[in-house]
Amino acid sequence: MAETNIVWHDHKVSRAERSVNKDQKPCLLWFTGLSGSGKSTIANALDVALHERGYHTFLLDGDNVRHGLCKDLGFSDADREENIRRVGEVCKLFADAGIIVMSAFISPFTSDRRMVRKLFPAGEFIEVFMDTPLETCESRDPKGLYQKARSGEIKHFTGIDSPYEVPSHPELRLDTSTMTVDECVDSLIGYLLDRGLISRKD
Ligand code: ADP
Repeated sequence: MAETNIVWHDHKVSRAERSVNKDQKPCLLWFTGLSGSGKSTIANALDVALHERGYHTFLLDGDNVRHGLCKDLGFSDADREENIRRVGEVCKLFADAGIIVMSAFISPFTSDRRMVRKLFPAGEFIEVFMDTPLETCESRDPKGLYQKARSGEIKHFTGIDSPYEVPSHPELRLDTSTMTVDECVDSLIGYLLDRGLISRKD
């Protein structure tokens, strides 16, 4: 809905100025992958590692936003899209504040991930594809959701009876069936250092 009486106000403190103050460049690490692929675990471990190095970070987790910001939304295709749109806009606000943002959402649809990517300047949207095989995710089943999906108790479950569209060009690909949590975090930190988004190794 276009609102003609609402005018955009530019901030007096720019994104770049905030970035200098914090000695970090804002970006969004968008973790995508099947339930149980390790999005939350790895994003949380990265959050801790960056925090310990003195960086200002924030993590938005799928389950948590569904308790508040998106509690009116379900799991239909339209609701999943609106969920990701809201989350993308919130992530952008955090990045505008100079923060390194991480998000952990299944985000199964390419079009939704592309919509969020478009909100960010080039190089600031980092798609992290958790490329853990379905068999591993299902055998972990940390929340018992695969069992419920297999028995039909949950419908439209990604990977079972709802599709997951595999990212074609993710910035990073991590398979937690072959990599430890520490190896995944090292790989992410290495990426951020290589791109100059952070500068301190420890
Ligand atoms: P998601 O957020 O993608 O749904 P979670 O992080 O909640 O996934 O669950 C992943 C599960 O796999 C956790 O129970 C975690 O302890 C377990 N796990 C085992 N090995 C690894 C690993 N190498 N990396 C990440 N998680 C792992």
